[in-house]
Amino acid sequence: MKILVINCGSSSLKYQLFDMDDKMVLAKGLAERIGIEGSILTHKPTGKDNAVFEQPMKDHKEALRILMDALVDPVCGVIADMSEISAVGHRVVHAGEKFASSVFLTDEVIAALEECIPLAPLHNPPNLMGIEACKAILPDVPMVGVFDTAFHQTMPKYAYIYPLPYEYYEKYGIRKYGFHGTSHRYVAQRAAAMLGKDIKEVKVITCHLGNGSSIAAVDGGKSVETSMGFTPLDGLAMGTRCGTIDPAIVTFLMEKEGLSIKEMDNILNKKSGVLGISGVSSDFRDIETAADEGNERAELALKIFTYRVRSTIGQYAAAMGGVDAVVFTAGIGENSVTIRQACLEGLEFMGMKLDKDRNNTRGNETFICADDSKVAILLIPTNEELMIAMDTKEITQA
Ligand code: ADP
Repeated sequence: MKILVINCGSSSLKYQLFDMDDKMVLAKGLAERIGIEGSILTHKPTGKDNAVFEQPMKDHKEALRILMDALVDPVCGVIADMSEISAVGHRVVHAGEKFASSVFLTDEVIAALEECIPLAPLHNPPNLMGIEACKAILPDVPMVGVFDTAFHQTMPKYAYIYPLPYEYYEKYGIRKYGFHGTSHRYVAQRAAAMLGKDIKEVKVITCHLGNGSSIAAVDGGKSVETSMGFTPLDGLAMGTRCGTIDPAIVTFLMEKEGLSIKEMDNILNKKSGVLGISGVSSDFRDIETAADEGNERAELALKIFTYRVRSTIGQYAAAMGGVDAVVFTAGIGENSVTIRQACLEGLEFMGMKLDKDRNNTRGNETFICADDSKVAILLIPTNEELMIAMDTKEITQA
């Protein structure tokens, strides 16, 4: 069974074609600069040379047509005909409180996702554009929506309601939603498999540390707490996002600096985090290099980042009343030996004992804890696309 996975941004379209019989990627690629000058599609077929298509793509539909031509191309193609594709899985950022799992993208579901646009004004519109374009080109192929927020819908109400006047939850849906759900779900499932246990029996803390970072507490396979909130701005310190701060700072700064709502929003989302602290970069590789060279603010940025991860791990162990495994994933979690080590420093008292040699690795699925560590510490590369393809297969076959 072949499944195409689509992830649309405002001017980009990422795709992966899976053969689900062996969960192998047949081809993947990225269309960029859609709707602007210089549109380009880079197609990477497994076992063949990459192909680059530089041609105008006025919208996502045109990008899709070019990628579909690439998939069946005699040279760079990987299938003979588009009819080989059994279903398409779409990544959608926000499903509000409407969906707690992946679903078929019926007209009713699409209408419900449109209602969620105010909650994710930058993400849901391009996601929906991709779905519409795909439906127009492949009208008879089943389409499934997989939502970043869905996994966290199992959080208890006392975890997701903010201590604000309750009417704002009722009126605007202001509550904690959480994000990166597909990633947290994937690595939690892999963690249970690596431990040789039923996911219903394990408590896992999953640390998705990338440009955007979030941590989730997954108890018995269900998300019970996560660090991102109403938006992906909350929680940890990130590349450019501030994470949790005293909300009074916002009004204080707006008044002192005479900032507009838009300017303030830009500061919190684009100029804060480790970039804001260090003044160096939002890329953790640059920050680590600067810190190694003695840049004190870069060092401070790393300390703030890892301190928040460490504190959150402690908090979530308390929230679940225990923890069997801690997982590191995403760009930083998968690659930075030193950041993983700093995140766990001092947590031996909780039974988390890292093995420095085992930790000296990158990007492979492995245990990085000492043999006598009470809590398993795991490195698991995330694979949101595979999770989307797995959901799509399951729903299509059911
Ligand atoms: P996103 O998907 O949110 O854009 P990623 O999960 O790809 O982000 O993570 C990107 C981050 O991972 C960047 O900040 C990058 O610096 C960091 N990263 C990648 N490789 C390394 C590494 N070897 N050491 C430290 N950080 C790394």
